[in-house]
Amino acid sequence: MPAMMEQLAWDLEADIVVLGCGAAGSATAIEGHDRGAEVVMLEKMSARHAGGNTRVSGGIWFDNVDPARAEVYLQSLCGRFKLPQPVIRAWARETARNSEWLEGLGAKIGRHANYTPEYPELDGSDCYGGYVGIGGQIGNALLFDFLQSAIRQRGIEILYETPGQELITDPESGRVIGVSATRNGKPFRVRARRGVVLATGGFENNRDMVRDYLGLANSPVWGSPAGTGDGHRMALKIGADLWHMDNMMAIVGVGTPDFPSAFATLGLVGEKGYVFVGLDGSRFVDENVQIRHGHALIHGRYELYPLQQAHVIFDERTRRAGPLVPQPEYMPVGWNLLVENYVWSDDNQTEIDKGWIVKSDTLSGLAAKLRIPGDRLEKTVALYNRYCAVGEDEQFGRAPATLIPLLKPPFYGFTSSPILAWSNGGPRRNENSQVLNAFGETIAGLYAAGTVSSTYSWCKDGGFHIADALAFGRIAGQHAAHPSP
Ligand SMILES: Cc1cc2nc3c(=O)[nH]c(=O)nc-3n(C[C@H](O)[C@H](O)[C@H](O)COP(=O)(O)OP(=O)(O)OC[C@H]3O[C@@H](n4cnc5c(N)ncnc54)[C@H](O)[C@@H]3O)c2cc1C
Repeated sequence: MPAMMEQLAWDLEADIVVLGCGAAGSATAIEGHDRGAEVVMLEKMSARHAGGNTRVSGGIWFDNVDPARAEVYLQSLCGRFKLPQPVIRAWARETARNSEWLEGLGAKIGRHANYTPEYPELDGSDCYGGYVGIGGQIGNALLFDFLQSAIRQRGIEILYETPGQELITDPESGRVIGVSATRNGKPFRVRARRGVVLATGGFENNRDMVRDYLGLANSPVWGSPAGTGDGHRMALKIGADLWHMDNMMAIVGVGTPDFPSAFATLGLVGEKGYVFVGLDGSRFVDENVQIRHGHALIHGRYELYPLQQAHVIFDERTRRAGPLVPQPEYMPVGWNLLVENYVWSDDNQTEIDKGWIVKSDTLSGLAAKLRIPGDRLEKTVALYNRYCAVGEDEQFGRAPATLIPLLKPPFYGFTSSPILAWSNGGPRRNENSQVLNAFGETIAGLYAAGTVSSTYSWCKDGGFHIADALAFGRIAGQHAAHPSP
C-alpha cells in the first residue's frame, strides 16, 4: 500500500462509496451490495430533500421490449451525435432488464397508460413498449420510496447531509481511493476499497455551467435544487473527459422568486387560446409543435426546443379554462408540487395575485408590463386572431383545431426563460460505467451513472432517463463489486 494512503486518516471505509441516492445511486448501491460488496452512500441533502430529480420525477421508465431493436432506436435518436457501440449495446441490454430487476427486489410494477414512441418515424422505435411504473402509477416519489426501502432492508448506510467534495487519488497510481466530504461542518474522508460511483445528478442549478455548456441564462429548474454539477467538477479535477455537455431538456414554464424551482405549464396545451412571442412581440413557432422531451421537429430537423426566452400570452377565456400547471391528482411531479406541496389554483387567479403572471385590461398595457416595445404584440395577436377566423395559420401551420382566438380581456402573460428540466452531459464513461480521461483511458476506481453522465447525446424518448439511471447504476455496482480492467 502506498505510503500516502496509509497516512490518510479515514473516517469511514467501504468497498464502494456511492455519491447521491437518486435512481442511479440507489441501483448502484443495491446491486453492489447484492454482489457481495460493502457499500456506503453519501448524500448531500437532508433525508427530506434527498433523491434529486428521481424523487420529483414521474418515476416511470420505458418498457424495452426488444433489446436488438433498442440498439437501432438509440442509434437513430443520436442522429449525427454518435455514441460508442459498446455503450449503446450495454444500454439496450440493461434497460430491457429494469422491470425484471425491480420485480426481483419485490416491486409491484404495472403499465402506465398506453404510450407510443415519440419518434415513431425513426428506425428501431418498435422496441418501445410504453411506460412502466411502480403500481403502474406516475410520480408521488413512488420509485424513490421503493428504492429507499430496498436500501434500508439491506442495511446499506446513507449518510445524509454529507456532500462529497473531492475525489482522493493514490498519488502514485492515480487510482481513486476515496472521497473527501463534509459532515457536520467538518471534513469527512471515506475510503473506497473498490470504487467511487458518482451519481450526483445534473448541473442544472450551476449557473456558470448552464451558461457555459447549455447557453442558457437565468433559467430556473423544474426538479431538485441539488444538481449543481458537483460530480462533474470532482471528475474534471482529476482529469476526466466530458461528453455531450450541450444536450438537455427544457420546457415552457413559470419561474418564481418564492421557490428554488419553477413550474412547468403543462396545462397549456392543445385547444386553448395562447401564443408564444419573442421579446419583440412576434410569434416564432407553431405553439403546439410536438415536444419530444426537449426536442421538436422544426423545419424538417430535430432541434432543441424550447431554447429561447419567450413570453406566453393568453386571455380571460384561457385563464378560466383550467390550471396552467396540472394539479397533483393529475400529474404529481416537480419539486414545487411534491416537496413544497404547492397546489396551483384551478383558475390561475392565486398566481396572478402573486404577480407570477402579469395581467392587463389591454394588449398594449400587457406589452408595456412585459417590456415588449411598440405595438408589435397587438399586431401579432390581431394577425393570429385572423388565422383563427379563417382556420389556417399561414405563418407556422398551427393545427386548425387549436386556433382559438385571444379576444376576451383581461389579457395575461408570463416570461418563460425557459425552465431547465435536466442536463445530459458529464464525465465521459464507457459501457462499464467507468469514467474515462481525455485519452480514452479508464480512471481506475471511478464510475459515473445517471444524469451526472447520461447516455443521451441528442434525442431521447419518454422514460429513457430513469431507465438509463437504473441500467448504468446497476452496471456500476456490478463492476465496482468485482472490478476488471
Ligand atoms: C419533473 C421531472 C420529471 C421527470 N420525469 C421522468 C420520468 O417520468 N421518467 C424518466 O425517465 N425521467 C424523468 N425525469 C428525469 C429523471 O428524473 C432523472 O434523469 C433521473 O431521476 C436522474 O437520476 P440520478 O440518480 O442520476 O440523479 P438524481 O435523481 O438527480 O439524484 C442525484 C442525487 O445526488 C445528490 N447529490 C448531488 N450532489 C451531491 C454531492 N456532492 N454529494 C452527495 N450527493 C450529491 C442529490 O441530492 C441527489 O440525491 C424527470 C425529471 C424531472 C425534473
